[in-house]
Amino acid sequence: MFRTIQQRIAIPYLLLILVSMLGLGLYLSRQARQSYLANLQASLAVQASLIGDAITPHLAPPAQPGALQPPAADFQSLAERWAAITNARVTIISTSGIVLGDSARDPGEMENHLNRPEIQQAQRSGTGTALRFSTTTAMNTLYHAIAVKVNGETAAYVRLGAPLERIEQDVSALQRALVSVALLASLLAGLAALWIAASTTQPLRQLTEAARRMATGDFQGRINPTTSDEIADLARAFNHLSARLAARIQELESERSKLSAVLDEMSDGVVIVDPQGRVVILNAIAEQIFNVEAAAVMGNTLAEALRHHQIVELWQQTLSSGELHSQPLELSANRLYLQAAALPMAPENPGYVILFFQNLTRTRYLETVRRDFISNLSHELRTPLASLKALTETLQEGALDDPPAARRFLQRIETEVDALSQMVNELLELARIESGKIPLKMRPVSPLEIILAAVDRLRLQAERAGLEVKVNCPPDLPQILADPLRLEQVLGNLLHNAIKFTPAGGQIILSASLLDTSSLNAANAPLGGCEPNAAVLFTVEDTGVGIHPDDLPRIFERFYKADRARSSGGTGLGLAIARHTIEAHSGRIWAQSVEGQGSTFYFCIPVA
Ligand code: ADP
Repeated sequence: MFRTIQQRIAIPYLLLILVSMLGLGLYLSRQARQSYLANLQASLAVQASLIGDAITPHLAPPAQPGALQPPAADFQSLAERWAAITNARVTIISTSGIVLGDSARDPGEMENHLNRPEIQQAQRSGTGTALRFSTTTAMNTLYHAIAVKVNGETAAYVRLGAPLERIEQDVSALQRALVSVALLASLLAGLAALWIAASTTQPLRQLTEAARRMATGDFQGRINPTTSDEIADLARAFNHLSARLAARIQELESERSKLSAVLDEMSDGVVIVDPQGRVVILNAIAEQIFNVEAAAVMGNTLAEALRHHQIVELWQQTLSSGELHSQPLELSANRLYLQAAALPMAPENPGYVILFFQNLTRTRYLETVRRDFISNLSHELRTPLASLKALTETLQEGALDDPPAARRFLQRIETEVDALSQMVNELLELARIESGKIPLKMRPVSPLEIILAAVDRLRLQAERAGLEVKVNCPPDLPQILADPLRLEQVLGNLLHNAIKFTPAGGQIILSASLLDTSSLNAANAPLGGCEPNAAVLFTVEDTGVGIHPDDLPRIFERFYKADRARSSGGTGLGLAIARHTIEAHSGRIWAQSVEGQGSTFYFCIPVA
């Protein structure tokens, strides 16, 4: 009913005071009325006996009939006179009930009064009192009657009547005063109750406010108890609790941040699920592997979070057997190969399972590259070796005796051996660059210088192939920090490829410009040490056959040739060497191509 403690204290208090004050008022006004009545009655009694004494001489004893028959007018004027003195209505009544005199009315008009209760009483016991409504005065009236005795015998009755109007007025004035006092007292008491209640509940409100702040994670609030009562004890206990909680939470948070730091440093994806299979922890690597955000999937089931039925099965197996289970997985969505392992976290955390995901994609990729390398190498070696064998056999089988033919064969043998040694040299070079064994002779060099050197070397070849070579390089480009011979080799390689893969009549443009953000987007990958406006971007653009989108990501691998039939004559090592050389310069190389329209090769080198 009362919502606050303040109301609970103040309202009943107020009601109690109001009720007791009103009760007291009622009681007091009743008492006052009774005592007024008693006083009035006493004074009426005194006055009645005085009047009785006064009229006795006018009364003949009833035993001597005819002794005295005083005229009614005497009694009437007596009644009126005494009424003026006593300020009451005076009635003198004969023993037979006839009104002899009355100060309020003409006795002739009045009925017999013997049946009036006060007269009846006076007849029996000498005095009579009645409180009743007077038909004569039309007022509530207190009557007092006495029997006036002459020689011990009742000779008449004297009755005094006083209207109660005055008493009623006094009593109701008293009641009004009492009610006002009660209301005023209640008001003061109510205010006092409110103040007491407010000051009692003030610390409670502070406590509530502090608890609310605690719920939002703010443990700084403390309550200063101003009293030394139970509530102050509660406040002190609360302060203690809040301090302990804050310390505990800080401890937990530091534990948690240590744990998440460890988890995020791990090279494996880690997911921890509770007994209901809901994700409680998911580290950064797992976020990357499954392409989810930890905050978004926290609390979701494993199936919802990772969307992989094999992982759910793995978790179920571990949960039911209580043992480690592992299995390889393939995520087709992002072409990842994983080794997944699920381990129960019992006995400390019964029902909890920790899942590890080792990303084997790179290992698988390297394995494939290695396998491809070996098979490519054997393939590349087999072809020239087979033709060498055929040539030597032909020589042995008699061609030696035909000197012009023998010379032709020897020339072809030399070509094959040259191709083989070029391949071996390139392989060696690649291995040396990869292992960092070739020291780069770095110096500041102008981009145009390098472009012109490469073009000079291959201009003749391009002309022979019926291609136009253009150079587009502003002369005021900043110098780059590079090994000019190595870079010239890379550019020569790219130009050589462009010549090889562009049909006659085509065009090749070599250009250099300051790297800007648009090239960053085109590279679609971090640009190594190249920063916009702090690196030079080289491009070799041709109008040749182009590269199929499936081949494009692989052309920088060793031995990779997009179209083995067409790209005859190459080793497939040129771009691999170019990539390693550029990366050794803290640069980056990439390509874009539209099949049938041409290709553009880009690389960037930081400025000196
Ligand atoms: P290769 O010795 O075969 O040229 P590279 O490593 O230089 O070896 O090139 C790898 C493959 O990339 C080539 O076999 C070819 O398929 C493709 N490629 C390189 N440059 C171009 C180009 N400008 N136009 C079309 N394809 C190219």
